[in-house]
This record gives sequence, structure tokens and C-alpha cells, in this order.
Amino acid sequence: MTDSIPDPFDVLILGGGSGGYAAALRASQLGLSVGLVEEDKLGGTCLHIGCIPTKALLHAAEVADTAREGSAIGVHTSLGAIDMAAVNAYKQGVVDRLFKGLQGLASSRGVTMIPGHGALVGPDAVEVNGIRYHGRNIVLASGSYPKSLPGLEIGGRVMTSDQALALDHVPSSVIVLGGGVIGVEFASVWKSFGSKVHIIEALSHLVPNEDESLSKGLERAFRKRGIDFTTGARFQGVEQTDAGVRVSLEDGTILEADLLFVAVGRGPRTEGLGYEAQGIRMERGFVLTDERLHTGIASIFAVGDIVPGLQLAHRGFQQGIFVAEEIAGLSPAPIVEAHIPRVTYCDPEIGSVGLTEAEAAEKHGADAVVTVDYNLGGNGKSQILGTAGFIKIVRVVDGPIVGIHMLGARIGEQIGEAQLIVSWEAHPEDVASLIHAHPTQNEALGEAHLALAGKPLHAHS
Ligand SMILES: Cc1cc2nc3c(=O)[nH]c(=O)nc-3n(C[C@H](O)[C@H](O)[C@H](O)COP(=O)(O)OP(=O)(O)OC[C@H]3O[C@@H](n4cnc5c(N)ncnc54)[C@H](O)[C@@H]3O)c2cc1C
Repeated sequence: MTDSIPDPFDVLILGGGSGGYAAALRASQLGLSVGLVEEDKLGGTCLHIGCIPTKALLHAAEVADTAREGSAIGVHTSLGAIDMAAVNAYKQGVVDRLFKGLQGLASSRGVTMIPGHGALVGPDAVEVNGIRYHGRNIVLASGSYPKSLPGLEIGGRVMTSDQALALDHVPSSVIVLGGGVIGVEFASVWKSFGSKVHIIEALSHLVPNEDESLSKGLERAFRKRGIDFTTGARFQGVEQTDAGVRVSLEDGTILEADLLFVAVGRGPRTEGLGYEAQGIRMERGFVLTDERLHTGIASIFAVGDIVPGLQLAHRGFQQGIFVAEEIAGLSPAPIVEAHIPRVTYCDPEIGSVGLTEAEAAEKHGADAVVTVDYNLGGNGKSQILGTAGFIKIVRVVDGPIVGIHMLGARIGEQIGEAQLIVSWEAHPEDVASLIHAHPTQNEALGEAHLALAGKPLHAHS
């Protein structure tokens, strides 16, 4: 070990994705020495093969739709072609700029980057390239990988988001296996780019983790956009030929397309990293922690996608910040998992936070829960954008709002206020008295609360 590398570090982190780098930046801000082990690129899944490149594709998709549909509002545009090389260059440019910024941030905060594959080899030690690094505190943040199904091999025309993000052409047709967040986002992009898309979902609805009203609303919108889907359908097998894929379902249906996109969830990247050998409690590969993200072993913490719960970048960021503050002795308040906002960025978008109606009924009793749906048909800005959709509020009778569920073009941008309302346990009357700017989609949130407070303005009582 060279003199310039602390031995031990105050905080030694395994994995430089959203969870790991947030822990590193916050810990160094608090004056702690930090070592960050990363075998690939700082920024992890979210920056390089997740949130950012997919949202760049979704923006390109929105531009394509706008060009295609301009004439409907008197602007005579048409969609020429999707030049995937140029789209990919734009997408990569966004990623590269953010990557450069993040590297600069880590370096300016004095984080010691340790490149290479790391494994936990002791309660305070991580080995990388045959060298042992020590930490008074260890943070496990090794992230996740795209899962497949038993017997379903990834390769050739069968791909996950990792390969799909590098595609150099627009497929003429795609079968999307899995109607969760990643599945519907890619389906939306490909449809906008001109592919024929068919989603297969084993459960009874698309985005099955959302409030059922959102699933049904998205299904309606996708039907209207010409995105095919089959729910309650189980995948049986796939054959690849030079010309395409032939997918069979358990009910005997055969579907053919250019490629099969597998989006059946993400598994924790923990195998062979020495976690179990150090006595860390694991379940289906996930690292179990208490609410303070402590593993129960020595001073080892875990953050991000390896901890059971929502696999979202902003959850990882918050967990990273939390652990750094915990290590620094600041005793931060535990993160409330139910208050983590969720956005699905397909067209139309979904934004949700808190309990679904079904979850609220289970927790508080069906009679103790009341809901209101505000249709975006009454919202000026949504009419201008030409989007259908709604905002559904779930509240406890005479109590706080416990869930907000939104569907509509660009509606994800409204998640900030929705999150504050749910997290601060606001009552409809509190929100109804706040002024929402006109004409914005944000106004629809205000209108929904006016309706719930018994005084709807632009809605029927
Ligand atoms: C297609 C797609 C779209 C997504 N879109 C969104 C979105 O819009 N919004 C959102 O909030 N979330 C989104 N996510 C999820 C988000 O990317 C993850 O929740 C987030 O990246 C998890 O952060 P993490 O730090 O736990 O893990 P990761 O980001 O996976 O980072 C883990 C890091 O650890 C490194 N590593 C692993 N093992 C080792 C080892 N042994 N030695 C050294 N280094 C190691 C990896 O190289 C990686 O850099 C998306 C994911 C995908 C795949």
C-alpha cells in the first residue's frame, strides 16, 4: 500500500453506482477518507446503461412523435428517418458529459478510486487485484444485472437492456417480454421509432406494481398508440433464425419478430463477492439489512439495488447519503421506503408515490379510504399537449393523503409536489389552499385536491 492511500480508509465502498458514489461523495464531504472500488465505470448502471441513456432515447422518441404529428396542430412537419447512429451519438454525448462531471466531482472531493474487481475478504477488508484494502466501515454497493428466465439464453436476437441500448438500427418488430417499467419504456421508444411492438406480461396487467387504475389507463393509451400486449401470458420458449425470433407462449400462441427484448427484472449482483462467507445474511441473493442499512456484521452497510426494495437510482442516492451520515455519527432519520417517488417514463408517463388504493385499503380498512380521480381533460395545459390521463389521490377518511397516482404525457414532472404532499402527510384542505400556476399540468394536482376537499373548480362535483 502506498503512503498516499489511507490504511484503513474511514469508508471503503464496493461499487461506484448510484448508491456507492452517493455514499462516497457525502462521506468525503463530511471529512471522512473514502476508497471506492469500481471494476467498470463510476456512475454504474444508472448513468451508463440505465436511467440516463434510456431517457435520452425517450426524448428522441418524443421528438419523433412530435415531428410525425405536427400537422395535427397545423405545423406541417413529417418524420424523415431515425438515424440510430446519430441518436446513439446524442445519447452517448449526454452520458459522457455527466460521466466527466461525476469523475471531476469524485476527484475534487478527494475520493480514492480503486479500479478493479473487488471481493469482501474480511469484516474490514476488500481485495482488489491481489491487494487488500481496509476500511473502518465498509459499504456494499455492487448493484444489479438484468435477469432472464430459466432456459432463456441472452445472445443474438434475444437481448436485455444492456444490448438493446447499443443497437445500431431500429428493429422492424420487437417482442417485449415483461410489462414492467423497463419493458414499457423500451416498448414506447421502439413504437415511436416505427417498430411494431408486442408486450408479453405474465401478470394480469402492464406495470403490475402500480395502482390498478394506472395499469388500465396505460393499457388504454398503449392500445391507442398501436402497441400490442398480451397479459396473463406465460413465455414458453424462443427459437432464433437468421431472419428473426419465434416466441411460443404456454397457451400455444406463436409470435414472430425481429428480436426478443427480455425485461423480466433485475437480480442483485452479489454472487461470488464473499458476502456470505463474512456471515452477511442474504435472501435470494439480496443483502438483508436493518432499517439503518447495517448488515448486522462488523461495520458493514449495504445500499442500492442489492438491498430488497425498489430498484431506483434516487433510492440508492438517498441510501448512500444516509449511510455516510450514519458512519459520521449524524444519526439520520431512517428512509421511508413508501415515500420513494416512482416515475415510468414511457408515453404517457406514470408518476406515483405512496400507497395504491388496494394497499391503503389493506392497511387502513376499505371503509377508511377515499379516492378522487381528476381527469386531465379539464386541465388546460394537458389539452394543449393533447394528452389524456388523470390524477388519482388516495386519502384516509378525515386523515392525510397516503398515495398519489398520475398518468399523462410529461406527468412525471409533477412527482415532486406529489411526494411532498404524501411525505408531509398533508390533508386535501392544506393543498387546496395552495395556488397552482395556470395553465400548467401542476394545476391538475391542485384541482384534484380541491375536488377531494369538496370544492372542485374545473371538475363536476
Ligand atoms: C434500462 C434501465 C433504466 C433505468 N431507469 C431508471 C430511471 O429512470 N430512474 C431510476 O431511478 N432508476 C432507473 N434504473 C435503475 C437504476 O439504474 C438502479 O436502481 C441504480 O443504478 C442502482 O444503483 P446501485 O448503486 O445499487 O447499482 P449499480 O448502478 O448497478 O452500480 C453498481 C456498481 O458496482 C460495480 N461493481 C459490481 N460488482 C463489483 C465488484 N465486485 N468489484 C468492483 N465493482 C463492482 C458495477 O460495475 C457498478 O458500477 C434503470 C435501470 C435500467 C437497467
